[in-house]
Amino acid sequence: MKTENVDILIIGAGPAGSLAAGLLRKQGRRVLVIEKEQFPRFSIGESLLPQSMEYIEAAGFLQDVVEAGFQYKNGAAFVRGDKHTNFDFRDKFSKGWGTTYQVQRADFDHVLIRAAEKAGAEVRFQHQVVAVEVSGEKPLVQVVSPDKEIYQVSAQFLLDASGFGRVLPRLLDLETPSAFPVRGAYFTHIEDHVAVGTFDRNKILITVHPEHVDVWFWTIPFSNGRCSVGVVAASEFLDQFPGTETQRLQAIIAQTPTLATLLEKAVWDTPARKLVGYAANVKSLHGKGFALLGNAGEFLDPVFSSGVTIAVKSASLAAAAIERAFRGEPVDWQLEYADPLRAGVDAFRSFVESWYSGGFQDVIFYPDQSPEVRKMITAILAGYAWDVRNPYVAQPQRLKTLEQVCAA
Ligand code: FAD
Repeated sequence: MKTENVDILIIGAGPAGSLAAGLLRKQGRRVLVIEKEQFPRFSIGESLLPQSMEYIEAAGFLQDVVEAGFQYKNGAAFVRGDKHTNFDFRDKFSKGWGTTYQVQRADFDHVLIRAAEKAGAEVRFQHQVVAVEVSGEKPLVQVVSPDKEIYQVSAQFLLDASGFGRVLPRLLDLETPSAFPVRGAYFTHIEDHVAVGTFDRNKILITVHPEHVDVWFWTIPFSNGRCSVGVVAASEFLDQFPGTETQRLQAIIAQTPTLATLLEKAVWDTPARKLVGYAANVKSLHGKGFALLGNAGEFLDPVFSSGVTIAVKSASLAAAAIERAFRGEPVDWQLEYADPLRAGVDAFRSFVESWYSGGFQDVIFYPDQSPEVRKMITAILAGYAWDVRNPYVAQPQRLKTLEQVCAA
């Protein structure tokens, strides 16, 4: 069997894979990306957080993203019953980007991987990683080409950025269950026909179901008059509605008057899809010669749109560790990659748990929030979950106290 040699082999051309490829090309490494789909391809995860812009910029992809014409985004709006509130990301505690984009992922992911190709990464679409061997000197991967030829690639480092494909967790028995209950989502794209002025298209809209605090909807406007709309709930809740995925999504929206009214003129031209049980975790985020990036490692929950931000943060941390390794310096992947990545993921986790129990919703809708605390909360919502100067990042237990104040 033919064996090729590269510096870095990346599995998957989503945001984690593309950003890692860009950052490693900047170091002058020979990078090969193996992607099983042909791009552009649909993906969920359309609302970005400003923190992700730092890594897009560091990879050298900023101009490509800006010029693609995606929907500008400067914050998040929340509605529960007759309560509503807006968070403007520019008014945040942490330093850094305060705006970002809402993107059709088919286009966004294509823009990123083309930028990685322009930077010199080799990308093979419709090639699929099917086996991996990490016990030897260097990781060795088996790939199937579109004409079913099998070949091997040997790499100094292997980065698994395969997202929900979870290639290394499956092949190396690294899977471990997520602590989150099994939730799912119905979602689609619509021609929204929302009248100008009734809706701030520069913000994601999160609407809470009027009777179920743990059921919520996203409305993510795009720059072309269309929206992504979806509902997230426990799978038993989703299963009780009859009909197609579209009919189920429409039925749950019909129970939620503010959202039903907002979307009353929408044209439902695309069948809805369903995703269930997406929360995932692994026993370890790294091993000899390999690391897991983005969703191939841990995925929490969609509620704060943190997935792409975590994916690109992981790419940045892994690229920095690899740079040191190529310089011949000893690298402790646990201390330099897994622990720092998990620190931010754990900060998001406490907010996600508090959202579903209703506590963080009380915080969000609390009318008399101090401006300082609001800026700290805004920083988390903008993705700055690694900024330990923020007391709600450094001491997540502070959130419990805040919940009690706001509930009272
Ligand atoms: P992916 O984007 O999934 O890319 C992985 C790539 O690997 C794919 O292209 C796949 O084809 C390829 N691949 C898989 N297996 C193989 C193989 N064997 N060989 C070769 N290639 C392979 N995140 C946000 O930031 N904002 C949101 O608003 C948001 N909403 C979400 C809503 C829902 C309902 C869900 C479930 C998730 C949401 N997310 C959101 C999360 C987001 O989808 C992911 O976190 C993000 O796409 C992860 O990026 P990634 O690069 O790790 O993986």
